[in-house]
Amino acid sequence: MKINAYAAKHAKDILKPFSYDSKSLSEFDVLVKITHCGVCHTDLHFLDNDMGITPYPFVPGHEVVGTVEETGKSVKNLKKGQRVGIGWQIGACLECEYCESGQENLCANSKATCVGNYGGFADYITVDNRFAFAIPEEIESENAGPLLCGGITVYSPFKLYNVKPNHKVGIIGIGGLGHFAVQFAASMGCEVTAFSTSPDKEEEAHNLGADKFVNSKDAAQMQKTAGKFDYIISTVSGDADWMPYFNALKPNGRLNFAGISLNNVSVPISGLVLGQKSLSGSVTGGRAMIREMLEFAARHDIKAMTEVMPVSQVNAAIDKVRKNQARYRMVVKMD
Ligand SMILES: [Zn+2]
Ligand SMILES: [Zn+2]
Repeated sequence: MKINAYAAKHAKDILKPFSYDSKSLSEFDVLVKITHCGVCHTDLHFLDNDMGITPYPFVPGHEVVGTVEETGKSVKNLKKGQRVGIGWQIGACLECEYCESGQENLCANSKATCVGNYGGFADYITVDNRFAFAIPEEIESENAGPLLCGGITVYSPFKLYNVKPNHKVGIIGIGGLGHFAVQFAASMGCEVTAFSTSPDKEEEAHNLGADKFVNSKDAAQMQKTAGKFDYIISTVSGDADWMPYFNALKPNGRLNFAGISLNNVSVPISGLVLGQKSLSGSVTGGRAMIREMLEFAARHDIKAMTEVMPVSQVNAAIDKVRKNQARYRMVVKMD
């Protein structure tokens, strides 16, 4: 069977129609007929070969939603016709210490959906069913895909670092990741402050559940945040002056970076030591965490705010992400 996809032939190329032969289903695989696929900022990093490891032709797309079309002989939990979502990861060894403790995202043999495999800007994809997740019926397909990557990326560190309902939480950046983080933190009961360089996002941030809004370009506003936060999560890929955020932490506070940035961060060790502060990073989440996140999102009506375009306009959708014009996730719909 031929799979019709959209691929780039070299770095920064536009995507053009590209077809390839589907592999035969192994025992744990499912063939998924794709209906929607989100455009994630990480797709752009790989499209541009920012990390120097992109294989071409490159078919991006790792926020996939579709229906199961065919199942391998050992697939027990998914049925033909069932709606599923696929995120960044489509495989892991399932035997190492990380896999065994539900942290498949940290497995050294992790397989990515769109790197070393043709991704979700296509009509079909074949994946290991153990990395395809049933989508709760409360979540519309066009709002579901971005939860599988963007959503889990910010949900997981709340759990990993034990953020509590009494905590004061700061979210840096109200964009593709940040708009999820505000919704999750508010639904977890935290006091939520949105930090943004765009004052015009204040109303939206409140609508998403933020209690407070700080214009991060305003030094006076930033200074007032000193010593106020238990946990701050950065969702931005660009650089920033990180010191005001570090100073905004209470003792025992944590500044966590989610989402890939090519920048560096430098803070004084004395501040880390004397305030017992932490700097950390986090990457997506394991399978159990993804299931939990989907249930949490369904229960609390958390969804991706999306703009949907037909797959034939995939380059325009990518361009909107590139220009930071997505409000807040672009999704392409298959024909
Ligand atoms: Zn992603
Ligand atoms: Zn493993």
